[in-house]
Amino acid sequence: MARRWKRKEVRFYSPRRHWGWIGLGIVLLTAVWGAQHSIFWGIWTHAQPPDASVSKPPPAVPSSSRSFEEPAASMVPEDLVIPILCFHDVSHSSSRWAVAPEAFENLLKTLTKEGYDFLTVSEAVAVVKGEFSGNIPDRPIALTIDDGFPSAYHTVFPLLQKYQVKATLFVYTEGIKGHPLLSWDDLKEMVKSGLVEIGSHSVSHTYPFPLLKRFGRKAFKVKMEREVFESRKILEERIGEPVSGFAYPGGQVDKTLENLVKEAGYSWAVTINPVPFRLGMNLYRIPRFAVAKGTTLKGINRWLTGESEPQQTAVSPP
Ligand SMILES: [Zn+2]
Repeated sequence: MARRWKRKEVRFYSPRRHWGWIGLGIVLLTAVWGAQHSIFWGIWTHAQPPDASVSKPPPAVPSSSRSFEEPAASMVPEDLVIPILCFHDVSHSSSRWAVAPEAFENLLKTLTKEGYDFLTVSEAVAVVKGEFSGNIPDRPIALTIDDGFPSAYHTVFPLLQKYQVKATLFVYTEGIKGHPLLSWDDLKEMVKSGLVEIGSHSVSHTYPFPLLKRFGRKAFKVKMEREVFESRKILEERIGEPVSGFAYPGGQVDKTLENLVKEAGYSWAVTINPVPFRLGMNLYRIPRFAVAKGTTLKGINRWLTGESEPQQTAVSPP
């Protein structure tokens, strides 16, 4: 027994076994040290490596340098929507597209109270493109006034000044009849205020689709070319400001017309389509909600909260 015990004891303390344990210890220590200095340590301990801020590669720098006034496109919330409302005459006219001045003022009052920020369409486009200078509003909206009715200057403009809200006015050049209706000086005064942007609504306000149907594509293209190119040239000469937007008469647009608008140098164009403007949309078919005499504040609120009325696409406003 004593011999067996002794042999056992000798085996236990044998130099070979001793070095074996030391070796195992070295291996374990090496493994722990290695782990502490590897990325796995961070995962195991659910902590950042202590030198993360130093070892992290610097953030990617875009090729074109941006100032703080030009936020990157990624800063625009993906779900951002900009409803664009389309008005025509703001008067007591019997036209189905005329909105009473009281109703128009009530809308401005309500929307400003609810915290909406009014952008011109060019500003809305800049927001969507990630090129807007300044903070992106929480509740952006854009007002557009088509056709150049005298009320644009005599009724709408004073209300824009009263509530300090912006709007985009689309005029057709042959429709500028001069004082006391609507004159080039009136347009210049509105632009100078900083509250109004002027866009083109063609030369003669001819509806594109009946023209296409009557004369065929070739003649249609020639005729629309003049409407698109010449109106921009005249507006820029008379107002002295660049014109970057076009509104299709009646909201009617096809591929030929869209291409002409691009060729003429416009940056964007609006149509009629009862959905809000949002990221990723075709900038040459920016949708607008057409406001008519029968449109109620409740109805507009439904548009703004995402409950649109798709049947409106069938209607062709002036
Ligand atoms: Zn029109």
